[in-house]
Amino acid sequence: MKEKITHDDLLMAYAAGHLPAALALVVRTQLALSAEARRRYAFFAALGGALLETIEPEALRADAWERLERALARVEPAPPTTDKGGDPRVPPPLRPYVPHGFEQLPWRKYGPLYEVALPVGDGGFRTRLIRLRAGTGVPRHTHAGYELTLVIEGSFRDASGVHRRGDLVIADAEVEHAPMAEEDCLCLWVADAPLRLTGPLGWLLNPLVRI
Ligand code: ZN
Repeated sequence: MKEKITHDDLLMAYAAGHLPAALALVVRTQLALSAEARRRYAFFAALGGALLETIEPEALRADAWERLERALARVEPAPPTTDKGGDPRVPPPLRPYVPHGFEQLPWRKYGPLYEVALPVGDGGFRTRLIRLRAGTGVPRHTHAGYELTLVIEGSFRDASGVHRRGDLVIADAEVEHAPMAEEDCLCLWVADAPLRLTGPLGWLLNPLVRI
């Protein structure tokens, strides 16, 4: 039976110190943005190691955890530089990667999407900042693996609703969506496999998808 990775799974694994660098960056950034995430994280942190050790092996045996489990063996490296305040628009966990503000990053345009890769140094995951202008969207797609999208600024809508600053959307092979920016939107995006376009021309466009 396939078990989905949930937001709480991520928070629990982070509390246990088990997340690979790319996923830990998503969790740290969300904790910087979302009081609700901080409340939930505090609950898991308070559970302590004993309970986590009790429940973890069962959870990790599920199919959905296999790739993550392999990744968990890796140790999260320290952020590359120290934080000296920086641009208040940039959540502190991202400042080592965005030292001079979002506008100064080497954004590259792919269709409607602007993106910049973050050198998180975790080969199993693609870690990007992505931007969409209001009213533009990502072509309809599903996922060969997991896709984590954390809203840093603005908002986007997909079939599961409207997602705003601090919201984390976890998508996998069972999710097909076409995210559309409601306002100019900037997100932290992590995936462990390429997207698969599924719209009418998806078969044609798939070789063009580079994110
Ligand atoms: Zn997606």
